[in-house]
Amino acid sequence: MGIFGGRSEDEGRASAVEELGRRISLAALPGHARDQAQRELGLLSRISSNSAEYAIGLNYINYILGLRWTSHTEDILDLSLARQILDSRYYGLASVKERALEHLAVMILKGAAKPRALVVDDEDAARKNLSHILDREGYAVSSASGGAEALALIDQGSFDVVLTDMRMQGTGGMDILKAALIKRPQTKVILITGYGSIDSAVESIRQGAFHYITKPYKVDEVRSIVRDALHAGRRLSPTGPVLCFAGPPGTGKTSIGKAIAEAMGRKFGRISLGGVHDEADIRGHRRTYAGAQPGRIMEEIRKLQCVNPVLMLDEIDKLGAEMKGDPASALLEVLDPEQNTQFLDHYLDVPFDLSSVLFIATANVPDRIPGPLRDRMEIVEFTGYTEREKLRIGLDYLGPKQVEQQGIAHLSPSFTPEAMLAIIRQHTREAGIRELERQVSSICRRVALRSVQSKPQEGAADVTIDERMVREILGPRKYYLEEAGTSRVGVATGLVRTDSGGEIVFIECARMKGDKELNLTGSLGAVMRESAHTALSYVRSNASRLGISEDFFEGHDIHMHVPAGAVPKDGPSAGATMVVALVSLLTGRPARGDAGITGEITLGGDMLPVAGVKEKLLAARRAGLRLVILPAKNSVEVDSLPAEIKEGIEIRLVENIVDALAQLLLD
Ligand code: ADP
Repeated sequence: MGIFGGRSEDEGRASAVEELGRRISLAALPGHARDQAQRELGLLSRISSNSAEYAIGLNYINYILGLRWTSHTEDILDLSLARQILDSRYYGLASVKERALEHLAVMILKGAAKPRALVVDDEDAARKNLSHILDREGYAVSSASGGAEALALIDQGSFDVVLTDMRMQGTGGMDILKAALIKRPQTKVILITGYGSIDSAVESIRQGAFHYITKPYKVDEVRSIVRDALHAGRRLSPTGPVLCFAGPPGTGKTSIGKAIAEAMGRKFGRISLGGVHDEADIRGHRRTYAGAQPGRIMEEIRKLQCVNPVLMLDEIDKLGAEMKGDPASALLEVLDPEQNTQFLDHYLDVPFDLSSVLFIATANVPDRIPGPLRDRMEIVEFTGYTEREKLRIGLDYLGPKQVEQQGIAHLSPSFTPEAMLAIIRQHTREAGIRELERQVSSICRRVALRSVQSKPQEGAADVTIDERMVREILGPRKYYLEEAGTSRVGVATGLVRTDSGGEIVFIECARMKGDKELNLTGSLGAVMRESAHTALSYVRSNASRLGISEDFFEGHDIHMHVPAGAVPKDGPSAGATMVVALVSLLTGRPARGDAGITGEITLGGDMLPVAGVKEKLLAARRAGLRLVILPAKNSVEVDSLPAEIKEGIEIRLVENIVDALAQLLLD
């Protein structure tokens, strides 16, 4: 049994190895990947097929074979089509669309230029033959009959691909390789070697050559290697920064990314970075590690089966930088056009060229993106929508889209503006329109259900979705416009920027017998806690000026609370609100409930500027505030906001918190 078992194991392994070897030689692999697969296969043929290493090796080779190393989808390079797609599907967002189209335009310009090729060979027949092959492929071909002439040409202009004989009189292929790479590191150099010079060919790869071809070569071989080289070298925007779409949820970031992919004829993939704490998530685990896997980037590339998809890196601002390894630095490499031609996934263990991938990142709050990453990207701001914009999008885009998706187009249903407004005001509270779309969708589903249940003659009439129907289907209102309103002692209204856009928060203060402690609750982050201490110190040091007894802290504790305690909060801009709540408590004067304030304060009470003014004002409007107090240092930003955002809300700019107190505290 033992002997037979051993033999059949050997035979089974031999035929599996042979089959894999055949697949490796047939697969469209770049040289370094083929070498790696063959090396691994060599190992497999020497170990037992029952061992764990064998299984790991087998998986690995299959992984290499499962990647489409050279497969590009054909790009559609039609700017007007792209513009039509974006315009017909998205309302507004002019600057976003413009930026996306610019990106495409760069690509089209690059795509339109003929690739430049240089052929170097001192044998006339060979040189003419190669030039002819490349010319037929549509490249702009120059040729040189010797090394010196080639160096002169390289010096004058840059080439996308250089095809050179290895051995020539005088200056040889290696010198040309070096000169070409010095002139332009992205140049793909392919060396043609005679029989017996394989060693120097391998050395040339080490020195940065793209590939080598051994004589005698086949025309098809030359053609496909040059094509690979050019695809590998063709980039959308070699130096241009990656776009980062930043803004609250539901403002269209993901779907615009998808539309861009569609307009370019590319596949689309998404990688969520929220909560990625381990570099291995991006870059994979080494194969020696039990249960090793490739990273998310390579996995997505494998699933999409091409090397040039649009890849969206979602929530890049949620990347945990402090954990295992450094995921942010791995991403830096992915996004850097100088480095991503040689992206090294630890599992894959051979470089993979990511330079054809169009990366688009998304973030909710751009300030939270790790600094070095932010420097590499161009932030394209998506801001929350005003009520009027939501109404337009609801009526013209979301409504028709959901009607189509729920299969009720034959009823030609239409939403009245009043109905849409009721959904926006009473059933959603958000910066974007994700919830709005969900509500519109559930109304459409109900209409579909009713039409199926009703008798044929009843269903014939067109359906108008009005306010009454909204109430019937969605039930009683979930939100009240007047969230803010009552003026209370010890409670002040602040404006904060969160992941979901802007929000109003209430800061509550209470004083009780105790021992001069400041208690803070409500999941406050370190910066917010510091603001609270600064606010208290400011009030203590200015007590008499503020009309507060100097010894108010003597024998007392102060408790400051920011409700919605389960939601973590941080940032410096609550400082001013905290002062207002404290002074209100200590003077017994109620703080206006229909007014909000945001600003960082110094110990001297100066108001420092804040970020996210637009989102905060939109939130103030949603909450029904009438007055918003902002630091005077934000005035340029306030002036540049569209009038529509400021409509219906009074904005006052103040230099010092004292001016704010005068306006916010009632007698
Ligand atoms: P995000 O990625 O910013 O969270 P999504 O792309 O998921 O947002 O958008 C949510 C929905 O809102 C999608 O169905 C999208 O088509 C729609 N949408 C967002 N902005 C617009 C707009 N300006 N015009 C039309 N539809 C929009």
